[in-house]
Amino acid sequence: MAKTAILSGANPALPGDDLPRTPRCPRTRGRVARDARLGRGPVSCLIVTSETIRVPEYQQYIGGAWAGSGRLYDDLDPYRGTVVARVAAGTRSDAARAVDAAAAAFPAWADLPPTEKQTLFLRAADIVERRRAELVALLAAETGCASGFAGFQLLTAVRLLRQASNWAYLPAGEVIRSDIPGTFALALRRPLGVVAGISPWNGAQVLAWRTVVNPLAFGNTVVLKPSEEAPVSAGLVVAEILEEAGFPSGVLNVVTHAPGEAVPIADEFFERPEVRCINFTGSSATGRILAERAGRALKRCVLELGGYNPLIVLADADLDYAVEATAFAAFFHSGQICMNARKVLVEESVYDTFVDRLTARAQMLRSGDPADPATLIGPLITPAALARVSREVDEAVAAGARVLTGGTADGPCYRPTILADVPAGARIHSEETFGPVLVAQSVASADEAVAVANSTSYGLSAGILTRDNQRGFALARRIDAGVVHVNDQTVADEPQLPLGGVKDSGWGRSGPHSMADFTELQWITTREGTGSYPI
Ligand code: ADP
Repeated sequence: MAKTAILSGANPALPGDDLPRTPRCPRTRGRVARDARLGRGPVSCLIVTSETIRVPEYQQYIGGAWAGSGRLYDDLDPYRGTVVARVAAGTRSDAARAVDAAAAAFPAWADLPPTEKQTLFLRAADIVERRRAELVALLAAETGCASGFAGFQLLTAVRLLRQASNWAYLPAGEVIRSDIPGTFALALRRPLGVVAGISPWNGAQVLAWRTVVNPLAFGNTVVLKPSEEAPVSAGLVVAEILEEAGFPSGVLNVVTHAPGEAVPIADEFFERPEVRCINFTGSSATGRILAERAGRALKRCVLELGGYNPLIVLADADLDYAVEATAFAAFFHSGQICMNARKVLVEESVYDTFVDRLTARAQMLRSGDPADPATLIGPLITPAALARVSREVDEAVAAGARVLTGGTADGPCYRPTILADVPAGARIHSEETFGPVLVAQSVASADEAVAVANSTSYGLSAGILTRDNQRGFALARRIDAGVVHVNDQTVADEPQLPLGGVKDSGWGRSGPHSMADFTELQWITTREGTGSYPI
């Protein structure tokens, strides 16, 4: 049974279709109906402000069973402030059980024939596709994600699962010539063991799938700790889907926790020898803490962190296209994607025209309810996140920055904002602000643009808008970033491509290239006959 069967109130009927659908809890009815179809237990009914609404309760997924530590916390809708789900507030002992389960499942999973793994990943892809509409609604309710980014997340997840279904067939190593006569030498790739995944809320689905699928596809088992802001879409839903697809018990385990309670879970990951790698996606600040701890524990870590992503507009660019590309890069998902453009560097001869047109374009972007398909800019994830973005903009303005558009909140959303003349001392000048805020800066030349692009501590993604691809390619090679798009903007992800950062943006690459991160090489030799030794 996937969920606890707690029913308060008098209605024991399972489907619950007779209950009124309330606009304060739009997902509830669909959720109940689906649970009934799967033959799972009923979800809970809570009495909230005298109106009975259904709020699903989620336990943790450990060793193929749904169970929890008893305590639940409220998972909130960032737009409405209502309760989307009540989720297990897991503890360190839950993490310990999850590591045990993953360690127990590892040998059989590592040895499962590729064809069987392939079947499982392909089934999971089909389930994601089948649940697409429901997952889009979940992403809106739990993470404030508008439909455009939700659709992108699910498409990428399906493609990742389909591609990863073949990764178990990738070459498992090399034969290397030995200088010792009769010796046959191999560098054989082996999975690491248990990989602990820590996933964020912002691209909840796509990043959770990436956190889970890359290590699983190379034969590891996984304990996933999703963000407390998105425990369902960044974790529990992945478990539901892999369970339905038939993945063996213990191959994926999901441990959830209440806000502010991540550290005891991470303590377990760091202190257990079975956990061989920490696979983290999140902020550079947290990545630094985890990397320090991984250093002490001598554990491998893979870090996909923040970025201060420059978008360069050269004078020869198609300005209509450049405006569209920049608006998308800066404001997609309200600037809450690690690859969003944070600074647009425009050659001075086109700066004024470009900035005027971009400002007009930004003013056309509609913010509001992410559940409305017409909405382009949803809310920021929490009131604290909104306050942080407001504060950082206000500080820049107090230091002399000019607001070209935006600069204020709109309910739980922040208006698309463009700042000019941002002084070097302002935090926003070179630090990631996780909101829809773009800094515009004029540059005298492409060389200056490259110098400014390389001047931050980050190095995730960059874009160069030019009609001259050859020149763009030459510039791209001078930019210190894990990803550079010529004649395109900064936000992109394809499962087969090596997304990842340099400098403070992290270590490691996603997709098939993550084989280097999630396997280790074992040197094996066999020798014919006998050798002779000097002692
Ligand atoms: P954000 O500030 O955008 O939420 P974080 O980097 O803080 O980004 O969060 C990303 C993930 O890291 C989440 O799953 C969160 O629970 C987790 N996390 C945050 N702090 C720690 C920590 N000290 N140890 C382990 N995990 C952490």
